Amino acid sequence: MDTATELASFVHARLDEEGRDAVLFHELDCPVSHTAGRISRCGCHCPARILARIAIHREVIRGCQQRIKHEQEKGLCWPCTQSSRSRS
Ligand SMILES: [Zn+2]
Repeated sequence: MDTATELASFVHARLDEEGRDAVLFHELDCPVSHTAGRISRCGCHCPARILARIAIHREVIRGCQQRIKHEQEKGLCWPCTQSSRSRS
């Protein structure tokens, strides 16, 4: 697994955790607030905002991965370490 893929996997794992934790932010009177695990649709704004932000972050990661892949195909080294810069 290359560095970019490893970093993306790390971030996706953190976002998975954040998504699981979103269930903790239902309103106290929400009927799904006491259900463990999956988040059902409800009117609570906080979990919905968390999940929406996670979706945006995943999209940003996908964009970064595509750009890195495109640059790697053009022969650019990523990440740009001191040793890789001195070679070019
Ligand atoms: Zn709720």
